[in-house]
Amino acid sequence: SVPHYGAAGTQKERTFIAIKPDGVNRGLIADIIARFEKKGFKLVGLKLVHPTEDFAAEHYDDLKARPFFPALVKYFASGPVVAMVWEGKDVILTGRKLIGATNPADAAVGTIRGDYCIIMGRNIIHGSDGADSAKHEISLWFKENEIADWESAVHKWTYEK
Ligand code: GDP
Ligand code: MG
Repeated sequence: SVPHYGAAGTQKERTFIAIKPDGVNRGLIADIIARFEKKGFKLVGLKLVHPTEDFAAEHYDDLKARPFFPALVKYFASGPVVAMVWEGKDVILTGRKLIGATNPADAAVGTIRGDYCIIMGRNIIHGSDGADSAKHEISLWFKENEIADWESAVHKWTYEK
């Protein structure tokens, strides 16, 4: 089997996706999950967590020098988030495509941000931006025993092999 953070470049590539507190409050959980499911990706980790501000700051550590960082930490820690790990071929990059541009004003219609939000400071969803951040974020949010390494019954209808 693979490490719990997955194996980038394979069908067992994994990415960390979080529905932020605004997405949860606005009733968008089911719709967002449905988009990843219908694409063909496989859910391997899922929990509802209310992050502390310290944990939010750790999650966004790479942005700590940015002027919006304090507001970002407060926003991310303002309520429960749906923390998820999704698996599949190219799920990191394709997940970012499903999510759309950081600024919802630039996000294409048909993407999650393009369809459901308006401003950067309330853009409803997070997704890892590369293999290193996926590994780092999955390890930060999920213990090994919180990831389900399961085989989908429809695998052969989603992949050639
Ligand atoms: P992401 O990977 O697309 O989520 O974007 P980043 O990693 O660059 O930034 C993380 C989050 O910080 C974004 O999703 C936004 O919620 C927020 N953010 C980024 N840039 C800005 C900004 O210029 N202003 C504000 N208010 N928030 C920002
Ligand atoms: Mg980012």
